[in-house]
Amino acid sequence: MAAPVTSAGGPPDQAGPSLLVCSPLRLEAMAVRRGLGGAGQVRVTGYGPARSRRQAAALAADGFGLLAVAGVGGGLTDDLTPGDLVVGTEVSDGSTTTRCPVAPLLAGELRRAGLRASTGPVITVDRLTGGPGRRQLADSGAVVADMESAPLAAAAGKRPVAVLRAVSDTPARRLLHPGIVTGGLAALRSLRAASPVLARWAAAAGPRRVLLAGPRSFCAGVERAIEIVEKILDQRGAPVYVRKQIVHNTHVVADLERRGAVFVDELSEVPDGACVVFSAHGVSPAVRAEAARRGLDAIDATCPLVAKVHAEARRFAADGYLVALIGHAGHEEVEGTLGEAPESMALLETAEDVASLRPADPGKVAYLMQTTLAVDEAAGVSAALRDRFPTARAPGSDDICYATTNRQQAIRAVAADSDLVLVAGSANSSNSVRLVETAERAGTPAHLIDGPSDIQLGWLERVSTIGLTAGASAPPAVVDDIITALSGLGPVEVTERVITTENIRFSLPKEVRAP
Ligand code: SF4
Repeated sequence: MAAPVTSAGGPPDQAGPSLLVCSPLRLEAMAVRRGLGGAGQVRVTGYGPARSRRQAAALAADGFGLLAVAGVGGGLTDDLTPGDLVVGTEVSDGSTTTRCPVAPLLAGELRRAGLRASTGPVITVDRLTGGPGRRQLADSGAVVADMESAPLAAAAGKRPVAVLRAVSDTPARRLLHPGIVTGGLAALRSLRAASPVLARWAAAAGPRRVLLAGPRSFCAGVERAIEIVEKILDQRGAPVYVRKQIVHNTHVVADLERRGAVFVDELSEVPDGACVVFSAHGVSPAVRAEAARRGLDAIDATCPLVAKVHAEARRFAADGYLVALIGHAGHEEVEGTLGEAPESMALLETAEDVASLRPADPGKVAYLMQTTLAVDEAAGVSAALRDRFPTARAPGSDDICYATTNRQQAIRAVAADSDLVLVAGSANSSNSVRLVETAERAGTPAHLIDGPSDIQLGWLERVSTIGLTAGASAPPAVVDDIITALSGLGPVEVTERVITTENIRFSLPKEVRAP
């Protein structure tokens, strides 16, 4: 086991999860108090920066476990409307900046509660202005302005801190606008509705250990597919069409979209003669034929390990075998592989499906597997197939790829010592979903999360050790973001357990290689 590699925050000055909420105005404090229902102490800290600074000096020595600043604030961006909630990622008054890593976690919880919530920097100013003054504040990157948060938040020291502001007015609806009253009421209603989330934050707070599974995150096939799209964007410029998601991850897709990739479901959406990339999951020969017929400039990002399964399917089918593909219906990889020999192939999702096979010659049955299956589950289906067809031919080498296998073994190694497992990955990522199932089969509750905002605070109560991994299509940065967000609940000690190291790299297709 490696030594701890990261510690976010450091030990709190005071042990204990007691929550103190600072609200500058009495009305704000009343709204918060009603929402909290006695789960924390609410203190009226007074209006404006001078009072806040005086309060902050006393607060620093207070015995609270977590500190929240909650009140109304002035929206700085046009997308905000009165009643919207902003959870500060950091709060600054120009001289002091306090980071609030728990922000995405709280915002996710607020959205799941049906509230409009976003995250962003909060700026504390000496005087709130409208019009051009607001625009200048927005230019600093801040999304909400107030007159109290920065000194109060700084008083938390190393203890977890959150800043929650409900928007009462916006650049389009300024301070002296008659609508300020309704805006203020909307903000107070939101503040009350949001306060139970602060209580849940307090209930989930405490020091934690994170056991990082290694290997995790990007595999060689995913890195290659992303690099292909990036290189085409560099070499030919936007737009570059990609059939289906290049890999199954929302962050990767959003990032490439920002850079000019256009993701389409079908080739019919690609203009004649344009460049189109086939995703890492592979395509059927029918899709290749259509691209050729349309005169499209097709570049293949199919993972070489998926291409290997396609080649096996063609070979077995050409030799007269009925080819059973063990996999999940509807997955793009499965559709592509079945398309290699549709007349000679059948899909097996479970061991029970074996009974439905009707080979013309029971001596000529072969089987293949989707590359991202759970190793133990797939073994059960292949065993059932061999029970019924003892001479069934297996693939020449494992179809379930090295990355899938390694990530499942790695999460099994940490799940046993974890109270909870979190798997970073998107819902349509087969290998990520299999990691959740693998952890659950090891007896540990597990959840798939696209990022920190998907973590439900209720999952973390009484959880002191979290196993953490990422599917083969999830970027490593998401794992860092999750650890950072967890540090907003208390000190986090991160230990990495590496069961093997991976050095595989696949070469790029000749169309994108440097000349
Ligand atoms: S998970 Fe395996 S098969 Fe899929 S892209 Fe990665 S290396 Fe290739």
